[in-house]
Amino acid sequence: MITIDKDTCIGCEKCIPACPFGALEMVEGKAEVNQNCTFCGACVEICPVDAITKPKLHLESEDLSHFKGVGIFVEQKNGVIQPISYELGELGRRLAEQSGGEKLYAFVLGNSMKEELDNLKRYPVDEIIYVEHPELEKFNPDLYADVLAGCLKKYSLNIFLAGASTIGRSFIPKVAAKVGTGLTADCTDLEVEQEERHLIQTRPAFGGNLMAVIKTARHRPQMATVRHKVFPMAEPSQEKSAKIVPISFPLEKLHLKQKVLEVVEEVEGMIQIEEADIIVTGGRGIGKPENFEELEELARLLGGAVGATRATVDAEWIGYHHQVGQTGKTVTPKLYIAIGASGAVQHLAGMKTSKTIVAVNKDPDAPIFNVAHYAIVGDAMTFVREMVSQLKKSAE
Ligand SMILES: Cc1cc2nc3c(=O)[nH]c(=O)nc-3n(C[C@H](O)[C@H](O)[C@H](O)COP(=O)(O)OP(=O)(O)OC[C@H]3O[C@@H](n4cnc5c(N)ncnc54)[C@H](O)[C@@H]3O)c2cc1C
Repeated sequence: MITIDKDTCIGCEKCIPACPFGALEMVEGKAEVNQNCTFCGACVEICPVDAITKPKLHLESEDLSHFKGVGIFVEQKNGVIQPISYELGELGRRLAEQSGGEKLYAFVLGNSMKEELDNLKRYPVDEIIYVEHPELEKFNPDLYADVLAGCLKKYSLNIFLAGASTIGRSFIPKVAAKVGTGLTADCTDLEVEQEERHLIQTRPAFGGNLMAVIKTARHRPQMATVRHKVFPMAEPSQEKSAKIVPISFPLEKLHLKQKVLEVVEEVEGMIQIEEADIIVTGGRGIGKPENFEELEELARLLGGAVGATRATVDAEWIGYHHQVGQTGKTVTPKLYIAIGASGAVQHLAGMKTSKTIVAVNKDPDAPIFNVAHYAIVGDAMTFVREMVSQLKKSAE
């Protein structure tokens, strides 16, 4: 937070119009900063008496040893812990070990989650930091950012991870700004450099054309969001060894700009490709946009979801949230059926770790066959129609 020295402030009001976010106000003749502050520093230089100071963002290297432990954000929906949190549990434990056996903390924001937390105790975390409040039941970016940032300030962690999910992407950058650190979004690999305990953060950059390796050299915690399904999930043990640490947070004192009015559930029957065990993906080889309807029918009969190549998404045959690949989703289903997809390297980046890959392509030399466990050389839609007909017959 920007700080204003009241004794030095002369009440000239020059800072008030200088703030682009309306974060400064006059209280009893002195300037005061409110929750709208984004630390942009626009007010600092305008002050004629140097009463305003920005938070010290650059730490001296010797300060870094005070920051200890790895934290993960446990994402919940309707009180149910989401799979990405268990992936972070496994990754967080590995990073804690690489940091010389430091503690792993799981941060949970929610309400009435007793059973879920009881189950979470079986996972390899040391402490579960739980902030419980009815207002935290539903996700609210502003509220979650304030509460989580408040918790992080108490814990002085070396590393903090969250999922690069819709929720993580929408509020973790605010948390990073509030605690005055950097954030590497959408990481696909993370390692701790032994000597300095720097987190080496790897993520695709420039549309996936190169992998950027990023280090947060002088800020703590080192924050990263992590792609779903890139890391395995932690395994539960029989013992419930993690300790729950409840934290109370004065939510009433927060001045929030956002209010959750209603949560609209996803379209009924739609399975998210990140969660699906079976994915039926269409490439340009399916011929035309309408044919995605037949792929949807096949996916429905198999209990799976529909994926797509970027070429079909760019051609507006189907929405972006179906795109698999370097600039789309990374998936690891049990069965991936690629129909009329060439198997470009950027597509393979998002699906090649699928357990079983079936590819259908009329070109026997299509690169998709290099990663396929079962290769079917033939016409895309003939395959789809035959599959649908056989599945319907077997269901009769
Ligand atoms: C920076 C960057 C990022 C990218 N990110 C992604 C990404 O995230 N995901 C992604 O998918 N792509 C991505 N791409 C695009 C990628 O390079 C390919 O262009 C794209 O994957 C091709 O899609 P496609 O296989 O549907 O189309 P095409 O390359 O046109 O292939 C169509 C295939 O269908 C076959 N076919 C044609 N007719 C039939 C038929 N009747 N029956 C059976 N088979 C048939 C053809 O033999 C061919 O193999 C990216 C590209 C760049 C440069």
